[in-house]
Amino acid sequence: MAVLDQLTSQEAIDLENKYGAHNYHPLPVVLSRGEGVFVWDVEGKKYYDFLSAYSAVNQGHCHPKIVGAMTEQAKTLTLTSRAFYNDMLGKFEKYATETFHFDKLLPMNTGAEAVETALKLCRKWAYEVKGIDENEAEIVVCENNFHGRTTTIISFSNDPVARKNFGPYTNGFIKIEYDNLEALEDTLKANPNVAGFLVEPIQGEAGVYVPSEGYLAKAKALCEKYNVLFIADEVQTGIARTGRLLATCGNCSCADKHCSGTPEVKADILILGKALSGGAYPVSAVLANNDIMDVIKPGNHGSTFGGNPVAAAIGMAALEVIKDEELANNAQELGELFRAELSKFIETSSIVNGVRGKGLLNAILINDTEESETAWNICMKLRDNGLLAKPTHGNIIRFAPPLVMTKEQLLDCVAIITKTLKAFEK
Ligand SMILES: *Cc1c(COP(=O)(O)O)cnc(C)c1O
Repeated sequence: MAVLDQLTSQEAIDLENKYGAHNYHPLPVVLSRGEGVFVWDVEGKKYYDFLSAYSAVNQGHCHPKIVGAMTEQAKTLTLTSRAFYNDMLGKFEKYATETFHFDKLLPMNTGAEAVETALKLCRKWAYEVKGIDENEAEIVVCENNFHGRTTTIISFSNDPVARKNFGPYTNGFIKIEYDNLEALEDTLKANPNVAGFLVEPIQGEAGVYVPSEGYLAKAKALCEKYNVLFIADEVQTGIARTGRLLATCGNCSCADKHCSGTPEVKADILILGKALSGGAYPVSAVLANNDIMDVIKPGNHGSTFGGNPVAAAIGMAALEVIKDEELANNAQELGELFRAELSKFIETSSIVNGVRGKGLLNAILINDTEESETAWNICMKLRDNGLLAKPTHGNIIRFAPPLVMTKEQLLDCVAIITKTLKAFEK
């Protein structure tokens, strides 16, 4: 079998099942091409992508500017390692730090690596700046979090499927309820060794849980009061997904649509991934100001591929697309339209209990148990009707299309979704 041999969908599925580890349970559709908000399967059927690779493809599939930057750089220089300088990384670091208003950036590849980096940075800051005794630092995390798949990260997950039989686990984490300020303050008050608070501005994997208005700002204020770093995991919520450049931008009223300079909440450590490359390549980063980032010295941390020139070129292009095409604005407007349309439908629906989200990160709640097959079956029907989405946690379906969608396309998708849901009404 040669690389260029064309497979049928069934052949491709059979190969993955036989030769690949079964660490995912994909919807049975085999994609071979993507452009903008659309993907095509091997047989040529066209679909709206309503997952966007978990919000990595915010800029749309195969964005010409991103692919252009990638291929140009791939032809020129791909990897030097950080043993030497390259002429792209500094440009990307300048551009990204100016975009997000931080002094410095530390480049990595995947989201989980960036989370790991943030945890290490926070701990080192705790010992060297805050003055916590060695090995005593604690980091507060939230229940139902999703921060990736490394051994340390799953150590503070409470998803048994992600966690069980992967022990022994990493110590030094305290879990509190999400969206509960009292729990946060009690924990910070009782534990002088807390170094950081790691939080998702919206819990994406948990089922698009949007915290109460003001939660993030008040949590940040508590962190300041107790000299604890506020670490925002914006791997999924960042880069225009929720209608602002960052979800922690909140509803700041400044005139610049791209601004994250006067945010509702300014994280001490910001974690980005996914759409930082527009889905073209693994690119992640941790951003912080000098008083924090400068605790990292040569040899303390690194990655062979992190900050490679292809990643840097892509990261810069991916952020430029977000600004040039005003995708935060588009996500904001289309998100409001989407929730308004779905809310209208829900008024008379017995199969959907609610819609929630921000910008174009939304979910509907299916009126059935977490163990039921209903949400999966709805996603199968959506697939048949030309729209791809995936259940998260059994009875929740996340809807997160690329942000380059037009209003007409969104209304077309609403029609597909409501028509499909109607067939499941009891
Ligand atoms: C996807 C995700 C990660 C992990 O990113 P990977 O690139 O899969 O390692 C971390 N945090 C959040 C909030 C995510 O959504």
